[in-house]
Amino acid sequence: MFSFRALASLALGLTLMFDSWGYVMPHQDPTDILILVNKQNRAPAVPVTLVKPDVTPTRESVAENIYMRPEAASALEALFEGAAEAGLTLYATSGYRSYSTQKAIFDRKAAERGEQAANRSVAKPGYSEHQTGLAMDIEGETTLGTGLTEAFGESPEGIWVAEHCHEYGFIIRYPKDKTNITGYIYEPWHIRYVGVEAATEITELGVTFEEYILMVRGDRIEELKGDVMQDEEAS
Ligand SMILES: [Zn+2]
Repeated sequence: MFSFRALASLALGLTLMFDSWGYVMPHQDPTDILILVNKQNRAPAVPVTLVKPDVTPTRESVAENIYMRPEAASALEALFEGAAEAGLTLYATSGYRSYSTQKAIFDRKAAERGEQAANRSVAKPGYSEHQTGLAMDIEGETTLGTGLTEAFGESPEGIWVAEHCHEYGFIIRYPKDKTNITGYIYEPWHIRYVGVEAATEITELGVTFEEYILMVRGDRIEELKGDVMQDEEAS
């Protein structure tokens, strides 16, 4: 379908453009598993069908916070089983979040650290990928109890997830050193379901989801001229 080499060089060119402009996806289908939600693209405010994946929550208090869309939930179960076959135990911490839940999380972080700092690690309400039902924050046995930290990325579970999650249709949504593109710090614990085909292409190309969407849906994108990211952070 694509020449990977051509795509990779295109990705490099596109990446260079991200410092100075953002973009919006007009009229996204809320049921599309390739829906793009980031600091410029709001999560659709429509109900999505949600189910609770049959996986172990990190702790009992988060057991009701791990709902996902059905296709993502099945894939998550398979991912956790795959890890178990490799002798590793994964836990689910946070899946679907409503607008009001996200608002509570953002407000708490902003009260602790100020709004600008909060915006680098927590999405503003309406702009969280968790609102799609396609994202999950996960933890592993090795770093259990330490919360969602970069240490997960160095743990055996985090290394396994980074290597294998695409086989189950997931990507590490906020990779290391890609903050200028994704708008977020490195989050090895936040995985996003995009389906096996897209996840495999994204992983083989070594690109972010933003770059991938530009490649496959560039014709639908509207450019936002100006310093959108900076405005957002300063607001
Ligand atoms: Zn997350």
